[in-house]
Amino acid sequence: MKIGLIADPHSNLAALEAVLKDIPRVDQLICVGDLVGYAAEPNEVVKLVRAKRMQTVMGNHDYAAVTRDVRSFNPLAAQAALWTAEHLHKENLEYLSNLPTHLELTYGKQRLYVVHGGPRDPLNEYIFSDIPNRVLAELVRDLDADIVMLGHTHVPMERMIFGKLVINPGGVGQPRDRDPRASYAILNLGEEVKANFHRVYYDVKITAEKIETAGLPSELATRLFFGW
Ligand code: ZN
Repeated sequence: MKIGLIADPHSNLAALEAVLKDIPRVDQLICVGDLVGYAAEPNEVVKLVRAKRMQTVMGNHDYAAVTRDVRSFNPLAAQAALWTAEHLHKENLEYLSNLPTHLELTYGKQRLYVVHGGPRDPLNEYIFSDIPNRVLAELVRDLDADIVMLGHTHVPMERMIFGKLVINPGGVGQPRDRDPRASYAILNLGEEVKANFHRVYYDVKITAEKIETAGLPSELATRLFFGW
């Protein structure tokens, strides 16, 4: 069983298309939320995620686009979220509003727990790779899962704790680890679990121009060239 794991495409169609082209044949695609927000192609990205029958959870930007509740957002993110809410087609808004805040999936003997932020706060918790073992252990100890899949930070992470694999594939649409290439992971679920991380070049200029043309904040275009 092979899983293609992605997170945070953030309305960046060029990045998502590049990743999907790069991913080898897999049995299932999983997207750990934040389909929309920041960039200018929310409908195209939602449509592609749906067409590929990805298993998906809700991210904080999906929630903001659906509810227009941007209280926890910085001004740039808030502006993009409200723009997204304005431009999403009805069927895509409906799709996003029906996404679960977490997913529990079983493939063979492996039980997966998928959540955008963290188990304590599904939408907003940040779990970075510098999280102390003690804190991470507490977060995942009681989860009935072998693999915990996270997004939200846009930074890749892999950690074994209590026999559980905690993995974040990094960001597709807005990487934040100073590497502008789109990020994803492939998981091989056999007797043991193996994860491989991948980075893919895409034409950042295409996405940047669409952000500018849409009248979204220029900073959201500029940062894509630097990966922060
Ligand atoms: Zn995100």
